[in-house]
Amino acid sequence: MNRALYPGSFDPMTLGHLDIIKRASLMFDELIVAVLNNSEKTALFSVDERVKILTEATKDMKNVRVDSFSGLTVDYCLQNNLHIMIRGLRAVTDFEYELQIAQTNRKISDNKVDTVFLTTDLQYSYLSSSTVKEIARYGGDVSHSVPDYVEAALKEKFKGIRS
Ligand code: ADP
Repeated sequence: MNRALYPGSFDPMTLGHLDIIKRASLMFDELIVAVLNNSEKTALFSVDERVKILTEATKDMKNVRVDSFSGLTVDYCLQNNLHIMIRGLRAVTDFEYELQIAQTNRKISDNKVDTVFLTTDLQYSYLSSSTVKEIARYGGDVSHSVPDYVEAALKEKFKGIRS
């Protein structure tokens, strides 16, 4: 069976992430979307909240499973017998960073984990979780960037922060 992992922070998941999930799910028999519990980064949404959002977003995609993990992504891959990692590329700036990570992951997994890059759909190339959070914090419209349940969750998070 052809399986792949799409790892990320997904804080929160955007329509850009969802587009990559949909496209990758058509390429593999099983796609595991896993939220990285990264103690280095301060997240707005808890890991459970991020998993819930991804589960809701992928509920109609029968070959997609949502999970979370801590530690090295290659360790998660090897423990779960996964050898392909999916990453999304928006611009040249993503490429430099992602290339280095992909090469490092290949090296430290003893060439057992490879990365496949999907280029963003142009309509989402400007989109990042950080800008979505920034816009939502100040009451801006994020309806074109995230599903409605994520927009509602963002409103709830920032309720009372302004005023
Ligand atoms: P990270 O895993 O680096 O903390 P994210 O959770 O934001 O970052 O992103 C996970 C993956 O999704 C990364 O490969 C990132 O490049 C990709 N990605 C993020 N936003 C988009 C987008 N708008 N279009 C396509 N890919 C994206």
